[in-house]
Amino acid sequence: MSIDTTCVQGGYRPGNGEPRQLPIIQSTTFKYDTSEQMGRLFDLEETGYFYTRLQNPTNDAVAAKIAQLEGGAAGMLTSSGQAANFFALFNICEAGSHVVASSAIYGGTYNLLAHTMAKMGIESTFVSPDCTDEELEAAFRPNTRAVFGETIANPALAVLDIERFAAAAHAHNVPLIVDNTFPTPVNCRPIEWGADIVTHSTTKYMDGHGAGVGGAIVDSGKFDWMAHADLFPGLTTPDESYHGVVYAEKFGLEGAFITKATSQLMRDFGSIQSPQNAFILNLGLESLHVRMPRHCENGMAVAKFLQGSDKVSGVRFPSLPGDPYHELAEKYLPNGSCGVVSFELAGGRKAAERFMAALKIAAIETHVADARTCCLHPASSTHRQMTDDELMAAGISPAMVRMSCGLEGTDDLVADIAQALEQA
Ligand SMILES: *Cc1c(COP(=O)(O)O)cnc(C)c1O
Repeated sequence: MSIDTTCVQGGYRPGNGEPRQLPIIQSTTFKYDTSEQMGRLFDLEETGYFYTRLQNPTNDAVAAKIAQLEGGAAGMLTSSGQAANFFALFNICEAGSHVVASSAIYGGTYNLLAHTMAKMGIESTFVSPDCTDEELEAAFRPNTRAVFGETIANPALAVLDIERFAAAAHAHNVPLIVDNTFPTPVNCRPIEWGADIVTHSTTKYMDGHGAGVGGAIVDSGKFDWMAHADLFPGLTTPDESYHGVVYAEKFGLEGAFITKATSQLMRDFGSIQSPQNAFILNLGLESLHVRMPRHCENGMAVAKFLQGSDKVSGVRFPSLPGDPYHELAEKYLPNGSCGVVSFELAGGRKAAERFMAALKIAAIETHVADARTCCLHPASSTHRQMTDDELMAAGISPAMVRMSCGLEGTDDLVADIAQALEQA
């Protein structure tokens, strides 16, 4: 099935006389006739539902759709993108492990790696996505267990050279985990370029309407944990908390990673997506293939207009010719990147503030990837505690604005930006 058909019909196939729309199974528990039957589920001898913290039919259908979209073997939903990235990493890392991560990643993920996981004894080394092969190689340690990056970094808009990072990870017998939130599988499928595990903040384009926070993990089913059994004991040695099951043996290449993340991490951390939110996410997915090209079209029109304005000193949009990541975008994102554009006002911080205040269609929000255009001036909002010097050191210009182009009429968006630039 094509991506388009999978967006609309993937995951849920109703039987004769069953609801056409995905049912919301709003139930914490499931009933069984005998304790023996339920016991077999607890022992992972049979698949089935017993408690929604572990599995729920609504969530499973949506996870299956996302796994199909990414070309993966298995998937799961989480309560947020943060939970998805934490689970994907913690499923194979433990105290004493090490992660090699791109430095161009979402701020929340940076905090997770640099601070919170460091407190758990999992250290990270950050490398620029533009680093040389030698710099990338030098970041690895004997205890490295994963490589992590974002296809299109939020908010830096750097494009990851997935093939290069996958080759480096595989040379060290560890998987590449790619956060594919910004392009979505409509514009890039990292598994086809060698990524082993893909994560999402479904809060963004997948939901697409700013309605529900959520996350997803997809496993390619291609990484051979048993071939490097000493590196991944959590998957290749008995899990005492689950009657000694060895995930990689019992569930094989295609099932081990997601089964462990579900039956162990979800059981213990409990970051589930509510079935209600999974239903809303599925509504978003049904139009993802129609919405993404429009987001890209509006992004390109806005980027080109900004590039031609003398009130703007710089524009970043990976699909724009001349962008530092244009070549990588042509390779990995030939049909478009996403709707997020960042640019700098020639008039500095004050001009950026005046520009933001003058916008009529674009709303000031910390959000991105929504049907409604929104924009953010980091220097006066998310990063307001930093001085101009500190901002520059962090790679954020005080005059930088990030705009997430929605699905409104292109001419209206450009006209709104034009009048706001006049007032800036
Ligand atoms: C927003 C975002 C996250 C975090 O997702 P939440 O759903 O907000 O927890 C992770 N990665 C990327 C690339 C994001 O844009």
